[in-house]
Amino acid sequence: MKAAHKVLKTWKYELKEIDKGYNNRTLYVNVGTHEIKEKPVTQFMKDKFIGGKGFDLKLLWEATTPTTKWNDPENEIVISGGPICGITQYSGTGKAICCAISPQTDSIMDSNVGGHFGPFSKFAGFDALEIQGKSDKEIIVFIDGINGKVEIIDAPEEPIDSHHLCEILHEMYSDDEKDQKNVSVVAAGTAADHSLIGMLNFSFFDPKRKKVRLKQAGRGGIGTVLRDKKIKALVCKISGVKGNLNNVVDLKAIMERGQRFNKEMRELDDKQCQMRSIGTAHLTNVMNDYDLLPTNNFKFGSHKDADKIHANVWKSYFTQNIPDGCWIGCNMACAKGIDNYKLRTGPYKDELVIVDGPEYETTSSLGSIAGIFNPDFTIEANFYCDTYGICTISWGTILGFVMECYENGILNEERTGGLKLNFGNADHAMELLHQLAKGQGFGKVAGQGVRKMKEMFAAKGWGDAGFMQDIGMENKGLEYSQYVSKESLAQQGGYAMTNKGPQHDEAWLIFMDMVNNQIPTFEKKAEALHYFPMFRTWFGLVGLCKLPWNDVEPENNHLTDEPAKVPEHLDNYVTIYNAVTGQNIDKYELVRQSERVYNFQRIFNIRRGFGLRKHDAQPYRAAGPVTNEEYESRQERYDKQMKELIGVDPVGKSTTEKVAITRKYRENRYEQLLDAVYTRRGWNKNGVPTIEHLKKLGMDLPELIEIVTPLQ
Ligand code: SF4
Repeated sequence: MKAAHKVLKTWKYELKEIDKGYNNRTLYVNVGTHEIKEKPVTQFMKDKFIGGKGFDLKLLWEATTPTTKWNDPENEIVISGGPICGITQYSGTGKAICCAISPQTDSIMDSNVGGHFGPFSKFAGFDALEIQGKSDKEIIVFIDGINGKVEIIDAPEEPIDSHHLCEILHEMYSDDEKDQKNVSVVAAGTAADHSLIGMLNFSFFDPKRKKVRLKQAGRGGIGTVLRDKKIKALVCKISGVKGNLNNVVDLKAIMERGQRFNKEMRELDDKQCQMRSIGTAHLTNVMNDYDLLPTNNFKFGSHKDADKIHANVWKSYFTQNIPDGCWIGCNMACAKGIDNYKLRTGPYKDELVIVDGPEYETTSSLGSIAGIFNPDFTIEANFYCDTYGICTISWGTILGFVMECYENGILNEERTGGLKLNFGNADHAMELLHQLAKGQGFGKVAGQGVRKMKEMFAAKGWGDAGFMQDIGMENKGLEYSQYVSKESLAQQGGYAMTNKGPQHDEAWLIFMDMVNNQIPTFEKKAEALHYFPMFRTWFGLVGLCKLPWNDVEPENNHLTDEPAKVPEHLDNYVTIYNAVTGQNIDKYELVRQSERVYNFQRIFNIRRGFGLRKHDAQPYRAAGPVTNEEYESRQERYDKQMKELIGVDPVGKSTTEKVAITRKYRENRYEQLLDAVYTRRGWNKNGVPTIEHLKKLGMDLPELIEIVTPLQ
């Protein structure tokens, strides 16, 4: 295959050492014009945007116009780690954020990812990578951090699906097997060619297994953008990872915090979350127990067969006693995998493969949400989603919607090309996935996502638009991730008030709100919906994984003033940031750093015609029971609430009447929540940041003021 490569462009650059977490330059590659250049990172950029998602958004803002479409050449994929990204002395320090204009939402998408490409591209010399333009042939972009050159290469013969492509490229760009660990690849897959939900895989070589593994930037279709640009892969090679490539100011301080955290992991993980042995899949039965596990398209939160996908079942599948960090030095090591899994279907039938995960989200999205409680279905679908390059979360929520449409006669065998897509039909669900990768049949329709399907089915007169709006679990065009939010008003906001669409990485408040009742008033919920999205944004600015923040907590955490913030770990992050950059921020400035970028992203959405109150509306399924069946399944709970909270006696009322009364109450509460949160965030009633608030944050930049002024 390498013999068929033709170098279309080579650009050389000077290799330099990183200075206190920054290279002070970014890399721009246009795969259409073949222009390659470096751009300086100014002090202003570092002060206002920090790195990671901040840099991505800044570069994307400058590269696009308000009317740029996802498949225009101007759209970019921007990838950046951030100043902390790449240290190895603390857990969870190798993440990157990818941004682009999304094929699904037409707005700004950000997706965080592990694997080694984020740190490696930084070690190769760049604080961010911008990929613009559209190629007319299949290409690879190669960043050679050893010889200081970037190449655009015509690569006609390599396969598209990630597991094969990444293995081939790791081998091709290595001198020998040992050298494979110095290579990382970004790729998508054949389903990304035929859908709007394409995903990026970021590879790393696992020296213990001697295998190439994949981590995913799943949300919002950035893999579709990669394939639309005819990019097969981005490849980065460095000479190796050493202890202090970031040239931090105070390595000792970082090591001290790292050792402290590692001790907690050793002593507490088995008692708390078992991240090292089950990863996030430990949540599956917990969610079922609290009625939060999406079942049959979020109709229900638990199921009698959920024991079949209990955490212990996943534990028995995962290979144990092997460090599973997706970046060097991660002691949380939750990137579990299933080795030598024999596939039963599809183009790779009978191959023995490594399956990355499933993580919690996937146990639900490729399982309970479709009424399927069969681990082997979940594992096989997980593998195929990864190698085909599609987001498991979006695909699962799509599947749930399709199945509910099927059960309601909106879809039927004729409309699905012969597939029987009832809840629980694992064989036909798998066939739908393979169809998508081939760009065939109803698979191609499903790959357009819930929002587009709702529009299409309504236009064809197949179903009631209002009903599909209620059950179609998307907001802003992005499918919901996997938590039932009906009984947590704060989590409804945590989903539908997000910048990119309903993903749990901004705010996960269900336990604080619903289980522990720590934020009972609108003001308290608003405070949480201010603090946590702002705080959690920070992980994506600096190159950190969120999981080590609160998936294992210090033993005395519950005795602290604000246990939900995990104060000791927060202090670790402040210390590490200062130790890397030489700055002297405190925990308040940390949140302000995030708030600047968060507001910038909100205004970026407004610039593109989104980002207003109406775009924070949620499908009613996220807030309450849409159907009589749902109401009756939890009748005792809803009747009690009607009496105690709404002040209406349910006795003598029909279920239809009770559904309507509950709905009116819940929809009204959500509107009140929006008001409270907007006020706390310094936004007006339409969800627009006020000029006064931007001034207070130091984000009254002329280009932002221009956008928000007419909306004050
Ligand atoms: S906690 Fe898990 S996802 Fe986060 S860096 Fe470590 S292995 Fe990767």
